[in-house]
Amino acid sequence: MFELDDFTHEPRIAYFTMEIALQNKIPTYAGGLGILAGDTIRSAADLELPLVTVSLAGRAGYFHQTIDSEGRQHEQPDQWDPGEWASPLEARVAVPIEGHHVWVGGWFYELEGHMGGRQPVILLDTDMDENNAADREITHSLYGGDSAYRLKQEIVLGIGGVRMLYALGFTLRQYHMNEGHSALLTLQLLRRYAYPDADVRPGESHYDIPKVRELCNFTTHTPIEAGHDKFPYDLVERTLGDFIDASTLKRFAGSDNLNMTRLALNLSEYVNGVAKRHAETSRQMFPGYRVRAVTNGVHPFTWAAPSFRELYDAHLSGWCHEPEVLIRAECCIADEDIWAAHMEAKQALLVEVKARCDISLEPDVPILGFARRMTAYKRPDLLFIDITRLKAIAKQHPFQIVLAGKAHPQDNGGKRLIEALHVYIRELADTVRIAYLPNYDMALAASIVSGIDVWLNTPQRPLEASGTSGMKAAVNGVPNLSILDGWWEEGCIEGITGWAIGDGTDGSTQAEADALYNKLEQVVLPLYYQDRAGWIAVMKGAIAKNASYFNSHRMMRRYVSDAYVH
Ligand SMILES: *Cc1c(COP(=O)(O)O)cnc(C)c1O
Repeated sequence: MFELDDFTHEPRIAYFTMEIALQNKIPTYAGGLGILAGDTIRSAADLELPLVTVSLAGRAGYFHQTIDSEGRQHEQPDQWDPGEWASPLEARVAVPIEGHHVWVGGWFYELEGHMGGRQPVILLDTDMDENNAADREITHSLYGGDSAYRLKQEIVLGIGGVRMLYALGFTLRQYHMNEGHSALLTLQLLRRYAYPDADVRPGESHYDIPKVRELCNFTTHTPIEAGHDKFPYDLVERTLGDFIDASTLKRFAGSDNLNMTRLALNLSEYVNGVAKRHAETSRQMFPGYRVRAVTNGVHPFTWAAPSFRELYDAHLSGWCHEPEVLIRAECCIADEDIWAAHMEAKQALLVEVKARCDISLEPDVPILGFARRMTAYKRPDLLFIDITRLKAIAKQHPFQIVLAGKAHPQDNGGKRLIEALHVYIRELADTVRIAYLPNYDMALAASIVSGIDVWLNTPQRPLEASGTSGMKAAVNGVPNLSILDGWWEEGCIEGITGWAIGDGTDGSTQAEADALYNKLEQVVLPLYYQDRAGWIAVMKGAIAKNASYFNSHRMMRRYVSDAYVH
């Protein structure tokens, strides 16, 4: 067992994230942002990069999902005990909240990579005897509560996080904000790099702004407005008091309300979006800022099914450290070996489906997979818009469907979508076997992305900043059938790595549904049934051309060369 001290002798990059998927039994993530954070540090571990991650302990987790026979989602707390997985920190720091001190302690979790690399993770926790009952709950629920609760969490994360890293003796060379939730860390840095009053002339800033900017990097993750936290200044004043003077705050965080994205944009030297198209969209949303693109990736070992890990180990040695070698999959792995590895993963999914939903899927019938956060812009219902058409396609070329996903407890639209999907499942009962697997989590995701035959994604352009599940499918040789948005605009080579839905010109729901039905009926399903060699060629294309590139090792090497070292 390593000690925290083993990590403090070398200057590190502090990676701040509100959520993180450390492993399946630690429910401190809600969706793609947390999965990405986990894959980020899993790659950092394999590449032995000097990071230290800061997040919240989130003892109450996100939530455990059950779905009743009417398709209604029910949410139960998903408690976990940090003491089982992490060691308590001795250090305590205080943050100012509502005119008093809230004490912040925390946990040291050591992420151990599968190649022996290690990464320190600090999980901040206010649930301590020193605090009153309300303050003890600040770090409990991920994305729970109202905006006052959220602001307190973000004070703990940003300000408490930096203070904790100092208290633990870390030397920090850069800060990386994974989304705007942690942007208050910039205020702590302004205070740290403040000039003595006597040196400040009238009209000059009290703070060494270039210094703070030089230290900060910011990754924005979504074009959706609700994804950008904004707090009214009267709430900020009540909560944070005079932590920093109002004119400085308004200068950097916006005049109307405290906009966490603005704050991060204004005080970061390096800003990026998570795919090329998303960077473009972000530049339109925030004119005047230089927003670069680092396209997301997934951690290859984590998302490869056991059968594919074995296959790659046997034929593409070194793939775990340099996923670029997956480019050789096309020539160096035999078709029948790819197919056998796939059928093994598919069989494992069938067992999972039977166990969780008591539905028996057929191994020889293709499975379409769709699993992700259930929310309006992801349009999980696009496939079902014309049930008659879908039935006609299924009669000609049978297929099955696996669905999964949670809706945020306050996203009523997302919950209605889950209910609607259950209505379609009933309407299609005599033609298409469909399983909706409850409680989507990392383990279920790994099983679905490897066990299905086609990964389906139907977001509303340009709202899918990147999307990562389709990349997980590619690691397992599963082709994507997707709208040209997010990463797929970069990853789609028609008929070679998968297929596009539509050509990106007519974005109306009807046009895109038609394009989806046509592609399924005329291209995807016929290929599966009539040309197995042609099908396996697309599977290999997904591995060679997409998994070799859309992985978090490439992503981290880009962050190092473009953001951390410049
Ligand atoms: C990968 C993953 C996500 C993110 O999926 P997107 O395609 O990026 O929307 C969400 N939840 C879980 C459990 C995942 O594994």
